[in-house]
Amino acid sequence: MSTPFQYCKKCVMPSTKPDLFFDEDGVCDACRSAELKNTIDWEARKKEFETDIVARYKGANKGNYDCIIPVSGGKDSHYQVYMAKKVYGLNPLLVSFESTTANTLGRKNRENIKTAFGCDLMVFEKNTHVYQKMCLRGFTEVGDNEWPNHLGIFTIPVRLAVALRIPLIIWGENSQLEYGGPKAARMKNALDRRWLEEFGGLLGLRIEDMVGYEGITEEDLVSYKYPSAEVLAEANVRGIFLGYYFKWDARPQVELVKKFGFSVKEDGPVEGTYTNYENLDEDLESVHDYLKFVKFGFGRATDHACLDVRNGRITRDEAVRLVEQYDGIYPWSGVKKFLAFSGMSQEAFDKVVDSFTDKSLFQTDEKGALLRSKEHSLVKKYREYGQGLGK
Ligand SMILES: [Zn+2]
Repeated sequence: MSTPFQYCKKCVMPSTKPDLFFDEDGVCDACRSAELKNTIDWEARKKEFETDIVARYKGANKGNYDCIIPVSGGKDSHYQVYMAKKVYGLNPLLVSFESTTANTLGRKNRENIKTAFGCDLMVFEKNTHVYQKMCLRGFTEVGDNEWPNHLGIFTIPVRLAVALRIPLIIWGENSQLEYGGPKAARMKNALDRRWLEEFGGLLGLRIEDMVGYEGITEEDLVSYKYPSAEVLAEANVRGIFLGYYFKWDARPQVELVKKFGFSVKEDGPVEGTYTNYENLDEDLESVHDYLKFVKFGFGRATDHACLDVRNGRITRDEAVRLVEQYDGIYPWSGVKKFLAFSGMSQEAFDKVVDSFTDKSLFQTDEKGALLRSKEHSLVKKYREYGQGLGK
């Protein structure tokens, strides 16, 4: 049976990815976007940053911080702070939304970002009762165990910017430019409510939907609510993507920030992929990535392999090998942590995951039950990646 979807001929992204478009040559948006990145006049963009951002905001907010930088402590936040503080001398307030289950490496990196660059850091520690309920609702209803995390990391820095009268928020990459998405969104330099609702990963579930769920009240959700357009306009808060002004490339950025004390995972790759430099602060991210895998048939290893292909570091054949080796392995370590965190049983967990699994992408028995390998992983139905360009 031939594969009912296509793989990009340049990278190995399948067309099952939402919002990803392919051109007549069978090349995906994200690859075309990567080519576009090479045609952008980055010198001009850098000048734009210097004149439009630095000259305008540096020291202009008298007696206050110049900007807020939302940080997790990861490679991207290290790079954002490096650029804003070390290179351009802005005076940022770092704001971090506590991850779901903080781990040692994540804490160490978050501590490092503060000391390495000499910045104030505010950590928002959440009401765990409310947060846990939202995680479970996100998991069972839209198949995302990290739902409130994705919301909190976007709303809390914006709320603080308004409350503390800080006019600028410096975000990191524009994920539509890195991973593909609608053209208008790719060229965007600003993060606003519309971006959050469309691309912030909320999957159609709204914060208002949480009121009343398991006793959650409106007051419990104060910090998860994005300020209204009027409040934002009045406060004159502007959010920008640093990735609009500077060419984003994870690997050289990792090498750079390592010189400032950023630690990668030394004992092997992060669960669900082959790299060791991303999602280090949150072990439950592998469950989130696994849910993406069951829904769309590709996981985090595919994302990373595609980035490495687009940045010219590996060939498409190597990418296929990495995807085959790492993608979609049942994330035992993350699952065990999620079961402890949620109080769910393994069976109940699998049942929810199965309900989000696209059975047209995975092998089933004659009764329609999903087949599993001896490691408990699902078995892909289609493993023909097609021919790459130039063959
Ligand atoms: Zn592609």
